[in-house]
Amino acid sequence: MAPHFKRDKDDDWFLPKDVQDQLTKTFKDLKDDVILEVFTQPGVNDEFSDYTVKFCTDLARLTDKITVREFAIPSARADELGVTASPTLCINPDEYHIRFLGAPLGEEGKAFITAIMLVSLKMSALSETSAPIIEALHDKRLIQVFVSPTCPYCPGQAMNAIKCAIAKPDLVTAECIEMNENPELTEHYNVGSVPHTVINEGAHEALGLLPEERFAVELVYLKSAEELLKEGALPGQEGDKAPKGFGTIEPGEVDLVIIGAGPAGLTAGIYAVRAGLKAVVLEKSIIGGQVALTPVVENYPGFATVPGKQLMDIMSEHAREYVPVHEGEGVESIEMGDIENDETITVTTTRGVYSTKAIILVTGASYRKLGAKGEDTYFGRGINYCASCDGYLYKGKSVAIIGGGNTALTDALHLKNLGVEVTLIHRRDTFRAQQPLVDSVEREGIAVLWDTVVDEIQGNDQRVTNLKIRNLKTKAVTDLPVDGAFVAIGQEPATELALSMGVELKPDGFVKVGPDMRTNVPRVYAAGDLVGGLQQIVTAIGEGSIAAMSAFEDIAHPYWK
Ligand code: NAP
Repeated sequence: MAPHFKRDKDDDWFLPKDVQDQLTKTFKDLKDDVILEVFTQPGVNDEFSDYTVKFCTDLARLTDKITVREFAIPSARADELGVTASPTLCINPDEYHIRFLGAPLGEEGKAFITAIMLVSLKMSALSETSAPIIEALHDKRLIQVFVSPTCPYCPGQAMNAIKCAIAKPDLVTAECIEMNENPELTEHYNVGSVPHTVINEGAHEALGLLPEERFAVELVYLKSAEELLKEGALPGQEGDKAPKGFGTIEPGEVDLVIIGAGPAGLTAGIYAVRAGLKAVVLEKSIIGGQVALTPVVENYPGFATVPGKQLMDIMSEHAREYVPVHEGEGVESIEMGDIENDETITVTTTRGVYSTKAIILVTGASYRKLGAKGEDTYFGRGINYCASCDGYLYKGKSVAIIGGGNTALTDALHLKNLGVEVTLIHRRDTFRAQQPLVDSVEREGIAVLWDTVVDEIQGNDQRVTNLKIRNLKTKAVTDLPVDGAFVAIGQEPATELALSMGVELKPDGFVKVGPDMRTNVPRVYAAGDLVGGLQQIVTAIGEGSIAAMSAFEDIAHPYWK
């Protein structure tokens, strides 16, 4: 079938030169041929189809290992593969069931390139823990991962699905679905937050990015890990039904374990390794912490304005030149060992056991909940916490943003820019946010309800429809009809691990450290959002470097001896 979309001139490149160079380098590792089949239907998502065709044909020009075939919808080939959405992109469809519904834009571009590499290498890249779990799968699975181009969590979840589809090509189909380009499917599954994963057309659903091992378990059992725990079906419990291999561990000896891969953790990694320590950075979720979720950063020196995710990609690429950064590896427990007898610290993670001389805690903070009635009921169905991830869902709709700090105002501007009708709800009569953000909110004409709190989030069976709001000065209670609300009222420090080690907290709930980032527990240091204070990227970076240098000093000359 002839292409529907043609480049203007044969020497026109769609991809910028630096991206071409980077991909040429990456594609040197390709092994087997990869066929990309692109399906388009004129009149449906034309600009995205155009993007997909140009992107794929550029890839094929960079390496002779990639071939692009274009097909129309409908066509015999589309019917054969059951393709109806335009554009759809299938990778080696005669061998695997991996498809992208919608253009692989933004963050999904990375998942798409990784998928091409793995397919070419015929490698699932599942961890030693996940692979045996998936091996035990004997029934078919259709995994549909709904994503948006600016959601930093989405490629991780798409890759979980793709890795399983490579591991079990006869049983697993992985679909990465751009929700913006597939509104009917998005509405059918009532997607209100991404990544949203639907398995076997609703037999099981999951919100958010799951650690790979947990994804594998949920895919096999079609139940959440919480349900399986209750049923005693997880390993180590009575009635253990989990396949052999789940929970197996690999020991590793290091000098320093850094827990968290935000700006503080990545910087600590660079400084530690440059000082000669053998260090590893463990991150249970995504690299970049809260910054990766910030639509735009305007106060990081050297960058007048930069998307938070892009800044963290640059930082993590730099850090990885020095230190291994393990994404998706959560710490389960820490045994301190007897310091008097020079015993090492044992860190047990979802993937293995590390024995280490010191630990830097940079576990950051997570969003604070409002505590209003209906907040949990409507989470993912109109209540959201990540504007970068879920903003696209509200194009042309009306949402409230609750909060008056930098996050609330940054999110309000981002959503307004996406074409969302925004109302800010703030409990006081002045914002806490920085002045340039306040000025921009005023300039953009964003509506603000001052001195107002949300008492209840209301909705129907499906979604949020209304907020019951109360003016603190007049005491008047009124309705605010909305399609959704973003809660941006600050952060709670992630202190669980710190507390498990006996680390002391300050009265405000953040970890107590000295100016050298030492905690009260010898060999344990903390930095970044976990220790409170100014909570800026630049302060996190400074603290990360100090923590690494203190760890280095203490390993060489233990002050407790
Ligand atoms: P924040 O600065 O702590 O602000 C939280 C906001 O939510 C405040 O306006 C607060 O009101 C309000 N609030 C708190 N609890 C509430 C409740 N229960 N009900 C209603 N409103 C409530 O949090 P953030 O904006 O998430 O920022 C966290 C940190 O990250 C800050 O240090 C911030 O500077 C940093 N950050 C920086 C940038 C940037 O520089 N570009 C972007 C994002 C975040 P009050 O004002 O009345 O206390």
